[in-house]
Amino acid sequence: MTKKLYIETVGCQMNVLDSELVVASLRKNGYELTDNTRDADTILFNTCSVRQHAEDKIYSALGRLKNAKREAPHKIIGVLGCMAQKDQRLIFERAPYVDLIVGPGQLHQVPQLIAGIAAGGGPRMEVSLGRTEGARAEIERSHESFDPLRDPEMRPTPHQAYVRIMIGCDKFCTYCIVPSVRGPEQSRPPSQIVAEARQLAGEGCKEIVLLGQTVNSYRYQESDRRWRLSDLIYALDAIDGLERIKFVTNYPKDMTDDLLDAVGELPKCAKYLHVPAQSGSNRVLQRMKRGYTIEEYREMMDRIRARLPDAAVASDFIVGFCGETEDDFQLTCELVREQRFKNSFIFKYSERPGTRGADLYADDVPEEVKKRRNNELLAIQNEISEADNQPFLGRQVEVLVEGLSKAAEKHDDPAAQQVQLTGRTRCDRIVVFDGNRRQIGQVLPIAIVDANAHTLFGTVVTQHVGPELFTLKA
Ligand code: SF4
Repeated sequence: MTKKLYIETVGCQMNVLDSELVVASLRKNGYELTDNTRDADTILFNTCSVRQHAEDKIYSALGRLKNAKREAPHKIIGVLGCMAQKDQRLIFERAPYVDLIVGPGQLHQVPQLIAGIAAGGGPRMEVSLGRTEGARAEIERSHESFDPLRDPEMRPTPHQAYVRIMIGCDKFCTYCIVPSVRGPEQSRPPSQIVAEARQLAGEGCKEIVLLGQTVNSYRYQESDRRWRLSDLIYALDAIDGLERIKFVTNYPKDMTDDLLDAVGELPKCAKYLHVPAQSGSNRVLQRMKRGYTIEEYREMMDRIRARLPDAAVASDFIVGFCGETEDDFQLTCELVREQRFKNSFIFKYSERPGTRGADLYADDVPEEVKKRRNNELLAIQNEISEADNQPFLGRQVEVLVEGLSKAAEKHDDPAAQQVQLTGRTRCDRIVVFDGNRRQIGQVLPIAIVDANAHTLFGTVVTQHVGPELFTLKA
């Protein structure tokens, strides 16, 4: 009999991919998706621990299910992912009606664990070893990657797919919980990644996005060959059917010239790099233990501009990190003004128990100061993004059509063929235009007629077919 699964995902692209894989494995076990918790036999939350807000959201969602579980005790409620690994038994204490807790390294076990609970086996918890709970090899083994199963319905769009090339992180930035919950840095064998990309291209995927916490730290030693990210994207570029390859997120110190040259040379590689700076102040970077100075970050940006003059660069910033002064913050503003990033993801610092930052420093920047700095930096970035989009007016760009625009999705009439579509340029700029559903998944020439800070607006350039003359043979 078909069972119903409700799954909610918060957090980064890694979690979106993990949910895709969990859904694929549960479909094999007779589940189909539902979009409401009332109908569901199993309710899963795939969680994030990077900010307090993301955790609070999950605990309130669990709180709302208390009565539903009392009324229908057979419903299985599970918490997966980073928060499961971080909080472990605390989740059972705060929400005793939860049946299942599974860390990111044990997701392949979800179908068997659910079957065991349904058979009356009681609540289950499966998590990886902590970073100090064994030898490195043992800890690595306890964080298993889970990639071969895919479910196209769970992808961002049918024509795009995430491909994990590595798991974990060894950088230990002091504000970040990822090295604890996702474990040691481990790269997947290139042969597995290439086979997966081939399969995706065969299923109609036009774009793959390679994922890693520090994706450009990718290293894999085969018996006679050492693979870097540049070698991997050369191999992927040769796959028929793929149109675009992107990779996120980069670590500034590992942005090597061989990688920049590969991005420049390979036609399928997006001319887009996401390289978080996090702060413009050396004092803050040092406290964050980011492993580079702002001079080194600038030198990396100079190399990017010299080798890839048309590439777009995006960054991340944390404002209000422990001890950040007004002068430190002004250095960050200066860096953003000077480097003119395509866009910046800006976050207010959120202390994470279990990180070195939480142990070493007081979270001493008041919330209203964090908010003000966040808004100020966002305003600077928005002004730059808007100005940088203006030169596109009147130009023609090549857009991979991803699907309906956000506005069109809200009022979608499936019978209407003419719809508002959205897609991205090769340098990751969002373009919105009117088109036809059949154009989703195609690469189209679009003439840009308007622009704001976040979006370019355009029209499809239609090819005129000239009159053809046929001579009738006598
Ligand atoms: S590089 Fe730093 S911020 Fe990124 S995942 Fe690793 S520890 Fe976290």
